Amino acid sequence: MTDQDIFHKDTEYIAHTYQRFPVAVRCGHGATAEDFEGNSYIDFGSGIGTNSLGFCNEGWVAAVTEQLRLVQHTSNLFYTMPDVLLAERLCRETGYAKVFFGNSGAEANEGAIKVARKYGREKKGERCNQIITLKNSFHGRTVTTLAATGQDSFHQHFFPFTEGFRYVEAGNRQQLQEAVDNSVCGIMVELVQGEGGVTAIDKSYAKYVEEVCIENGILFLVDEVQTGIGRTGTFLCCEQYHIRPNIITLAKGLGGGLPIGAVLMDDVAGKVLGPGQHGSTFGGNPVVCAGGIEVLDQICRKGFLSDVSAKADYLCEQLRTMPGVTEISGMGLMIGVSVDEGLDARKVAERCAKTGLLILTAKKKLRIMPPLNITLDEINKGLNILSRCLSEI
Ligand code: PLP
Repeated sequence: MTDQDIFHKDTEYIAHTYQRFPVAVRCGHGATAEDFEGNSYIDFGSGIGTNSLGFCNEGWVAAVTEQLRLVQHTSNLFYTMPDVLLAERLCRETGYAKVFFGNSGAEANEGAIKVARKYGREKKGERCNQIITLKNSFHGRTVTTLAATGQDSFHQHFFPFTEGFRYVEAGNRQQLQEAVDNSVCGIMVELVQGEGGVTAIDKSYAKYVEEVCIENGILFLVDEVQTGIGRTGTFLCCEQYHIRPNIITLAKGLGGGLPIGAVLMDDVAGKVLGPGQHGSTFGGNPVVCAGGIEVLDQICRKGFLSDVSAKADYLCEQLRTMPGVTEISGMGLMIGVSVDEGLDARKVAERCAKTGLLILTAKKKLRIMPPLNITLDEINKGLNILSRCLSEI
């Protein structure tokens, strides 16, 4: 097969919901991918923060294939080992009490929303079901997580959306005060709004949200689907914000490239759901969880996360000197790059794809989220291609 054969079949048979770049990835190693014609690409996207250890990391492949040879799935009616070990590991690393596993970020957020609503109902009655989220946030593509997403552009086409969400501007304390009443059961935030344009929310505001939750006896939910598992240079982004939410949702990088979602709950939130109240056929799948354990093993090794921060600093330093770059945003290896008014980030990304660099966009910015273990050599190769594309466009 050639790349063109794949593009044609995609057009013919796959539902047209994605605006893809014209690259078909045949294989990859580390942060380097190869297409069906033998062209190679530096990967500055890691499958939107998902291939945290890059393509086909040896330890991760070994962990996944070893489990694949033992048992691939049992349903949640029986016990398996990888999910309990991954849950134990997540709790030990973070100090949280319980984990629920699903298959995606949206599913993790759905689980978190269910916990908050049941908690509110039990504590304050059936009217206590409202959840406050931030404008410009992104929480997923299901009907409920679209509703939770604080962007009007996502509240189209699929009416009726799930009720019970209120949106406030990040940083606006008064708006938050006015939005909280007895019908609110939780506040959910993304610390770095990824899809919304790689914008980190203010640290003192995040602390304020936590205080409002404590004062009002409601749950604090943090969506770390994109920021979690080392992406920002600490295991959880919450650590850098010095906050301790009741619930943290994880997905993307936790699986290292296989589908997973996780709801991490503290002592309070962890007691809310009982048997039969939540579930997911593939949740906690042993193969995926075996990969997840390897991801944690590698990112928790001494020096790994400080390396992530050092690479992020280097990337930002280099990006600032590039033609057409006006501003850098984000945290760790979650980097937003604003470009000159005259430059269209999507066009720059398309040109990069044609010349050997896979790079993302978020709103009007370029977005860089390489594998966490990308090498300096791969970073420099990618930066060279980006710099060329920015000056040629
Ligand atoms: N939450 C955040 C912060 C995200 O960035 C995303 C996806 O980009 C989601 C939730 C949804 O995750 P998924 O696509 O795995 O459902």
